[in-house]
Amino acid sequence: MLRVENLTVKYGGIAAVRDVSFEVEKGKIVALIGNNGAGKTSTLKTISGLVHPAGGHVFFEGNEITGMKPHEIAKMGLIHIPEGRHIFPNLTVKENLIMSSYSRTISKVEFLEEMNEVLKNFKVLKERENQLAGTLSGGEQQMLAIVRGMLQSPKLLMLDEPSMGLAPLVVEDVFNIIRSINKNGTTVLVVEQNAQVALSAADYGYVMEVGEIILQDDAKNLLSNSQVKKIYLGENDD
Ligand code: ATP
Repeated sequence: MLRVENLTVKYGGIAAVRDVSFEVEKGKIVALIGNNGAGKTSTLKTISGLVHPAGGHVFFEGNEITGMKPHEIAKMGLIHIPEGRHIFPNLTVKENLIMSSYSRTISKVEFLEEMNEVLKNFKVLKERENQLAGTLSGGEQQMLAIVRGMLQSPKLLMLDEPSMGLAPLVVEDVFNIIRSINKNGTTVLVVEQNAQVALSAADYGYVMEVGEIILQDDAKNLLSNSQVKKIYLGENDD
């Protein structure tokens, strides 16, 4: 569904992403893990058109999307939920969700019906739909960002660091939601520093370090890989 070929991203003269290639197969959850500054966010931003690559190509459902505008890419069904959630704190939950209707070609009535349908699975947000989004807890704000993404009709949902700043139990909730979204047919690419939780949810994983992909395998194999265990899971084989 998504193919990234030899992607290079530079800021000034410095390469943040170097010759990165990977794929996301339709129907799967793929995790891109790596430490702070590895180049994960730059990779996602380049896929969604927010950053222009210095080299390489991005294909979505077989069509080259390199260099296309972010709204054109979103319209194709490739939806990016950014790091830090980027919700509007001074708008209510409902108003935040209505913001995603602007990228849709359906009527307001149809959109509101769809919104109420999606909210059935997010009772906490439904109860808080008239509350200012900035007053929600971190976990609720992440849910809001996910629901807003879902209302843009994604074929592939890209989430940047959904666990950021959340307590472990809330992280579990968020990843359970990501799993159920995937079960309902949406392909997922998740970028995470939290290797344990991301690889536990994923089918396949890529490990990124200083701008390059250094490892790739089935997620369950990566969870038992000694290098991954040592660097990302804080475990030693011996
Ligand atoms: P994090 O999890 O902290 O977001 P990351 O793996 O997503 O890390 P990036 O945010 O892609 O990494 O950053 C990769 C490198 O590019 C870092 O060295 C960072 O300082 C640099 N970088 C990112 N954005 C810019 C920018 N707009 N201008 C200059 N350098 C940047």
